[in-house]
Formats: sequence, C-alpha cells, structure tokens
Amino acid sequence: MMALSRGRLLSHWCSSPIQRYRVTLQPGRYSRHLSICPSLRSKQTPDFSSGFTRSYDPALESGRGPMFRKVNFGVPQFYPRDLKRRVDEYVVGQDRAKKTICSAIFNHYQNLRRRRQYEQEDKEKHEKLMRQRFARDRELSQRRWDALPLEDEVPGQSSSARQASELASEASPNAPIFKPEEPAAVEHVKIDKSNILVIGPTGVGKTYILETLSKKIQVPLTICDCNSLTQAGYIGQDVESCIERLLIEANYDVKAAEHGVVVLDEFDKLARRETTTGRDVSGEGVQQALLKLVEGTKVTINVKDNRSSRAATPIPTNYNASGAPTSSMPVSSPPGKVDQYTVDTTNILFVFCGAFVGLDKIILRRVSKPAMGFGGDVQSQHAGTGSTHSLPTETYAHLAHYSPQSASSFTPLDLVVSEDLQRFGFIPEIIGRLHNICALSPLSKEDLYRILTEPRNSLVAQYTALFETYPSQLYFTEKALSAIAERALAAETGARGLKMEMERVLAEPMFDAPTPYVLITEACVKGLEKAAYWGKDGRHELSQRLEEEQFNAHNPLHSLEQLGQAEEGRG
Ligand code: ADP
Repeated sequence: MMALSRGRLLSHWCSSPIQRYRVTLQPGRYSRHLSICPSLRSKQTPDFSSGFTRSYDPALESGRGPMFRKVNFGVPQFYPRDLKRRVDEYVVGQDRAKKTICSAIFNHYQNLRRRRQYEQEDKEKHEKLMRQRFARDRELSQRRWDALPLEDEVPGQSSSARQASELASEASPNAPIFKPEEPAAVEHVKIDKSNILVIGPTGVGKTYILETLSKKIQVPLTICDCNSLTQAGYIGQDVESCIERLLIEANYDVKAAEHGVVVLDEFDKLARRETTTGRDVSGEGVQQALLKLVEGTKVTINVKDNRSSRAATPIPTNYNASGAPTSSMPVSSPPGKVDQYTVDTTNILFVFCGAFVGLDKIILRRVSKPAMGFGGDVQSQHAGTGSTHSLPTETYAHLAHYSPQSASSFTPLDLVVSEDLQRFGFIPEIIGRLHNICALSPLSKEDLYRILTEPRNSLVAQYTALFETYPSQLYFTEKALSAIAERALAAETGARGLKMEMERVLAEPMFDAPTPYVLITEACVKGLEKAAYWGKDGRHELSQRLEEEQFNAHNPLHSLEQLGQAEEGRG
C-alpha cells in the first residue's frame, strides 16, 4: 500500500511524459526503493509499547507483533504419564520401570520433534534468502534494461545518460551493493540422547513395554539379539546388522531410521568371559565395537536384493484398472542392483536389555559390607522355588519413584551401580554410555493372575476369541486361573510360562473341537480330571458347575441369566 501510494505521489511530481510513463508502469522500482531505503524505515514510529508498527512487512517475521510470534516448539501431544497410561493397558505391574522408560522414550520423541522443527525453520530461512537473492537479481537486470536509451529519446539525452552512469557507479566494485539479509546462523542447543539399560528376569515385560511404547509414538523399533553378534571379521553378525534391521523396520526410510530405537536384547551375554585363545570376540570384542555405534557413526548398508522392485506398487503391469493399456510403467531398479544407504546413528536411541543372572549377588556383596551398615540386615527369603534377598526398605529411599507403598517392590537389582556392572564383565566405556538404569521386579503369582485376565490382549481373551471361531464357548473358573498362575510361577519363566500352561491345559479341547461349551476347572489344570464339555443345551449344567467351584470375578458368567445375556451378545 505504501509502495503504491508513494508511486502515485511520484507520478505527480514527474513533469516529463516519458518519466511519468516509466513511473506508472514500473511501480516495482519505487517499492524497491521503499523496502531498502533505511531512511524511510527509520521514519516509521512504533505504536507505543504494543509491539506493532504502522507498517507491515510480510518478509519480516518479527513485524507481525507479539500475538503472532510463534512458539518455536509446539506443546507435546502427550506426556510421560499419558504414555504410561497406555502401557498400563497392556503391561501389568512394573510401575517404576514403566515410569523411567516412558520418560526416556518421551524425551527421545521430544528431541526428535524439536530437531525436525529446527530443520524446517532452517529450510524456510534458506528459501527466504534464495527468494531475496532472486528478487535482487531480477531488479538489477530490470534496472540495466531501464538504463538502455529509449527509442524516442534523443541520443545522449540527459535522463538516460544519467541513469546509465548511476547504474555504472552502482555496478562498480566500490559501490555499496544491496545484500539480502543473511539469516544469523542460530546455534541450537544440542540435546544428547539418554540410552537405557533395562535389567530384569526373563519374561517380566522388558521388551513388551518397549514394543507397546514404540507403537504409540510411531518410531521404528527393532529388537536385536546380542547372542549372534561378534567382532568384525569373525563368524557371526557385525554390530552394524542392528542398524540394517532398523532400516528394514523403517521401510528403508533413512531419516526415520536415524531417529529410531534399537533394543539390544540379551545384552548381558556380552559380558567379558575367559577364553582359551585370550580373544573374546563375542563378548568384550562386541562391547568395543558397540562403542562407536552407540556414540554416533555413519553406517553404510548395502542392500543386495531387488527390494526396490518388490516395493514398487502397483505391481508393474501394462494395464490400468480400467483395462486400457498404460504407457507409463513404474520404473523398478534392475534385479541384482545394490542399493546403498548411509545411516547416522548419533540420534538413534539404544536400549540394552538383559537378565544379568548373578548381578544381584554382586550387588548384595557390595551393599552388605559392614561399612555400608546393612551387613546384618540382609535376609534370605525363599519364595516358591526362587530365592530372593530383601534389604531394609530405607536402602532404596534414594532411588527415583520410591514411596513407602512401593518400597516392597524394590529388589537389589535396583541398587546397581557402574562398579557392579564392571565386576559383571562390562568395560567402563560402554557403561558410561548407559544413562538410565532401571530394574524390573520378578512377577508374583498375583501379577501372573492379572496378566491372564486384565490386559488388553490377555491370554484368556485370546483363547476365548480363538474358541469362538470353532465355534465353542470357553470358560475358566477363578481357581483354575489361579492354578495356572501358580504353575507358571514355579516354571520361573515369567509371563511366558502362562502361555505354555494354557497350551497344555487347552490341548485336548482344541483337538476335540467343536464342543459348544468347554469349562476348565482347577482339577483340570492340576491334571486330576479332563476339561468339561457340554452340548448346545448344556448351559444350565455349566452354570451349576461354575457355582460349585468358586466364581471367577473376571468371568462374565455369574448366574444363569448372565450366561444367557452373554450368549445373546455373542450371537
Ligand atoms: P522379557 O522381559 O524377557 O523381554 P517380554 O517382555 O518379551 O519378556 O515378555 C514376554 C511376553 O510375556 C510378552 O509378549 C507378554 O505377552 C508377556 N508379559 C511379560 N510381562 C508382562 C507383564 N508385566 N504384563 C503383561 N504381559 C507380560
């Protein structure tokens, strides 16, 4: 607006018809003057303290006033407690570990969002600079064009001659040249990742928590088994194979893979061990190889198969959906071509998981030294088949998420320090790269019972759904489920033992399918009787039998009427 009004004003000032012709048809020349002339800018008075000025320059971000000033980084869509709520739907217990892992994964996600935001901002700044440069070049060429003598102008007439000389002086190396605003190189604070070490017995939910979280935040996650890793040059897999798997998980999207999560399962198997040759190629050697990867390096991955031709959708065909021949076929890479990908591991989050059998003894030996003051207090407990050691609850008081209510769930593994890990066989360099350590507790019988019935995708829900496909209706008594939990606890394989028990108990009903009603009782779990079957009219008897054995609170059947309702619902 300012440019136009100024242009109009100038058209009044110019007396010569040739000059007027130039002014009215080329207002850009004057708007250019207005936008670059510092004297004009300085005349614009700020409107008191509101932050607004009388002029509006869309090229200037700060010119939009405080209301429009964007917050650099948006408010998160969720917080760690929201993540935990999500995990709670699937994973029973393990509150402390869930809190630590949710916070670490949340921070990883926030860091990723922050980095993306800055990348976008830098890109926009660069584009703006390019636009300014382009506008300036165009303007200069326009001025050169204007400086050419006009056809109806008398050769050597003063105006053209003056303009030509002005342009020449502007173009001279000593003349002040207009330079587009170079965006100040902003050095963003670099937030380093925080890798996690998750310790806990087998089958207690270490990887399950991470898998559930990765689905929620939609970050590629891969789980690699450390057992197969060896030092480069030896039979086995190099540590870089984890990155290759992550890339596959990210569907060959390098950017996504560079922000993914690598879970190194069975990490404890990399502990240093004595070898006859003196070379520990699958233990300490791998620890050394992991250092670079965890710290950040560029891994080059060659994909030898014709993956890209397989991924091309739709499948190459000469016909489209309407049946008419198509002229453009999707171009696929020739079979046998090697695709090369380079992945930077600096921002990949590493989660190390392991059971660390024997680590609790090392910890107990350390904390039970008389100097520590707990020497006499370490008690051995024998719960079921496994033995646990309990320390006075105040030993754990300094740990995160400690509360008198949760004190009983702490185990000596929660007290792990780098000294214990070194004794276990890890080199200090790798320990220094583990920033968060959290321990998972062994699952109790109550936890196992809850795992059977409570979570989404619980085992009872899974098998009930499976039997419905036969079609059969499967019921468990409360005592039967309790007996299954008890047997799984004795197996010492954590929640994995539950599935084994279920398969054992349901093996015969599965083979005898379809039987309209199937009931699993405590005696059936203990092998004292067979699973009970009824025909289509066996509803009443099933209900009676259920009442005989204490009712399962989680069983939808509490009475004959409810049984009928449940059936109607299923129908
Ligand atoms: P690990 O601790 O050895 O990594 P996982 O996390 O892979 O064991 O658990 C194995 C399976 O056991 C999971 O797929 C899940 O079905 C079940 N599971 C283990 N712990 C829990 C838990 N706390 N709550 C619910 N399910 C669990």
